[in-house]
Amino acid sequence: YSGQHANPLTFETLYEVPVATVMLTPVLIKPTTTLQDAVTTLFMYDIGSLYVADDEQQLLGVISRKDLLRATLNTQDLTQIFASMIMTRMPNITTITAEDRILDAGYLLMSHQVDSLPVLAERSKKVVGKVTKTKIMQYFVEVGMKIEHEKYD
Ligand code: ADP
Repeated sequence: YSGQHANPLTFETLYEVPVATVMLTPVLIKPTTTLQDAVTTLFMYDIGSLYVADDEQQLLGVISRKDLLRATLNTQDLTQIFASMIMTRMPNITTITAEDRILDAGYLLMSHQVDSLPVLAERSKKVVGKVTKTKIMQYFVEVGMKIEHEKYD
């Protein structure tokens, strides 16, 4: 052992921290939200996907950018199409909990080839957050920058 500090860029720091560390506030819409309002909401909040939930915040579905593009091409009147008609619905949604590790979230995002995962309360369908590829990427870069900075302290 050299007596030097262990490299802090460890598996624990990068991968074993809980999803809660990188969790974002989800933007929820109702199943009755129109295609018109869904597209507006996506731009307003500058996000890539919308989660559809009932009044108790229970997850019903997910709508991605491409879901919105497809629906927009298929209709003249954006006020006649509703979120419930174009969403990917439960139980076909890959979800995670805030207590799971970033590694688990990353693995699910990659294997299912989706951009985000709804974070649900344990043993319930209640949406408590969102984890995205972009946010995990940002976290990895921030940890890297911090470690690089500390090297020269
Ligand atoms: P985009 O369609 O804009 O490329 P995604 O890759 O996230 O964005 O979504 C691809 C498809 O998978 C869409 O039809 C979307 O509704 C669906 N989808 C998105 N997130 C999930 C998820 N966590 N679980 C299951 N399906 C999802």
